[in-house]
Amino acid sequence: MRVLGIETSCDETSVAIIDNGRVRANEVFTQDIHAVYGGVVPEIASREHIKKVAILCKKVIDTTVGSLDAIDLIAVTDRPGLAGALLVGVSFAYGLHVAENIPLIGVNHLEGHIAAVTIEHSLRPPFFALVASGGHTSIYRVAEDSYSILGQTIDDAAGEAFDKVGKLLGFPYPAGPYIEREARRYTGSDPIEFPVAQVTQYDGANFSFSGLKTSVKYYVQKSSAPLSEDERARVCYSFQEAVVAAFVQNLRTILHEHGSLPLAFVGGVACNGRLREALSEEFSNDVFFPSPKLCADNAAMIAQAGARLYQRGVRRFPRMEPTSRLTEERG
Ligand code: ATP
Ligand code: MG
Ligand code: FE
Repeated sequence: MRVLGIETSCDETSVAIIDNGRVRANEVFTQDIHAVYGGVVPEIASREHIKKVAILCKKVIDTTVGSLDAIDLIAVTDRPGLAGALLVGVSFAYGLHVAENIPLIGVNHLEGHIAAVTIEHSLRPPFFALVASGGHTSIYRVAEDSYSILGQTIDDAAGEAFDKVGKLLGFPYPAGPYIEREARRYTGSDPIEFPVAQVTQYDGANFSFSGLKTSVKYYVQKSSAPLSEDERARVCYSFQEAVVAAFVQNLRTILHEHGSLPLAFVGGVACNGRLREALSEEFSNDVFFPSPKLCADNAAMIAQAGARLYQRGVRRFPRMEPTSRLTEERG
């Protein structure tokens, strides 16, 4: 089955074609324009998607199958994300569906992040999935046709924490890769002990990253002079290790409470080499990650999720009610 995937939920415009699970094309345009604002500006994002989506679509068709006639299904992200940005992708996909009479399915962006792992690995449910991205940090138990949430952040997402701490330290948005690079430069043996929140007042294995971010903020503000390069590397290292500790702690709880299953680590934060290494160690290598291009936002993962839904008989027309969750709506 040849699937055209379309993703415009945030600040990446992406169009991809997958053919029976094999990625034929996966064009991603990252809207760098937001960097100067320190975060994504929704209205600008929508306008940038409008400029790019048709161009990328033409490119992936021209460089692979040659014609829309060869496409069996269109899969488009319809939630969660920026409403205006989503509307661009959904409207474009709807136009193709009507004009070319190709079946259309709406895909949850988080389901896409999870499906990314099945493109390069033969991992099949049941498994645990840690989705860590700019807007979400949750652990699911993934079954063939359902997701149960086992833990989630009660405040900031992990990627958001990387971005906010990065902003404090003067890095451009998105700051995750800069923090990882700086942390690697740290060679000392006296890291700062930033707190790892134990979120015990709620059920499940939940995260809290806002206290960690505030601790880093106080630490940085406390120093009268700007941080030296070495001190900045130390802050990055110590912050990143606190995120490692939060992930490991919650995954241990989940293994203890729900038995042992393989782990998929997905979403933009799963690009982080230190986190990958730490989780591989913790799970004795029974952990799977998409390659970095498939961890970050891309349309191949949306096409893959759409194909799997469609093949299971799910028919879900894109809907435009805003939601921030994966679990509440399936059909
Ligand atoms: P969501 O998927 O929740 O809707 P999003 O699509 O904006 O949000 P992604 O594109 O999946 O999020 O991930 C982007 C996030 O990943 C950013 O917060 C970015 O800083 C973070 N990130 C990217 N690379 C790294 C890295 N090497 N280390 C840590 N974080 C990273
Ligand atoms: Mg993004
Ligand atoms: Fe994402």
